[in-house]
Amino acid sequence: MATPEETGSRVTEAVKTVAIDVDSVLADVMLVWADEYSKRSRKKITKKEITRWDIPTILPITSDQVYRYFGHVWKHRWREIPPTEPGIADAIMHIHKKGYRISIITKRERPTAPYVAMWLDKHRIYADELLFIYDAAPKAIYRFDVLIDDAPKNLVDIVAPKSAILFNQPWNKDFDWPVRVDTMSAAEKLL
Ligand SMILES: [Mg+2]
Repeated sequence: MATPEETGSRVTEAVKTVAIDVDSVLADVMLVWADEYSKRSRKKITKKEITRWDIPTILPITSDQVYRYFGHVWKHRWREIPPTEPGIADAIMHIHKKGYRISIITKRERPTAPYVAMWLDKHRIYADELLFIYDAAPKAIYRFDVLIDDAPKNLVDIVAPKSAILFNQPWNKDFDWPVRVDTMSAAEKLL
């Protein structure tokens, strides 16, 4: 009988891993967040207007409320959260078929984790691993070769041989980063 090494199913050093963020990279959650905010404050805002990472600097809301609305959206409105592009599952599968391991890595509060898993299943998004980070550990310490993320704070401490692709969002336009994409399909072409 062939050993896993002979059949090539063993994860070797040669297999590169792409780590992909969930919020605002796979799941366009801030569209629904903005809708939730608009309903509660009776003041219409859209995702486009969220031009800073630190939302309390642009809207009359506390950071505690920002996270509470976020948790509410994931727990009660997760079915409404669209992917960032219609063909997202195909884009991820293409990356995997190029020979990459797909690591979905998301930093979040514990109660929203099951809804994220259900969302990924609903949209048939392929993954080799799904990593939930609950503490303040930087994403850079995890095992991957390329990170795709929209948060400048997750990219700043990435050093070679690791690399990172910034996923464009209204709140990261001013961040100086050389490699940027608007979609996972565009990221797939860079890998
Ligand atoms: Mg994110």
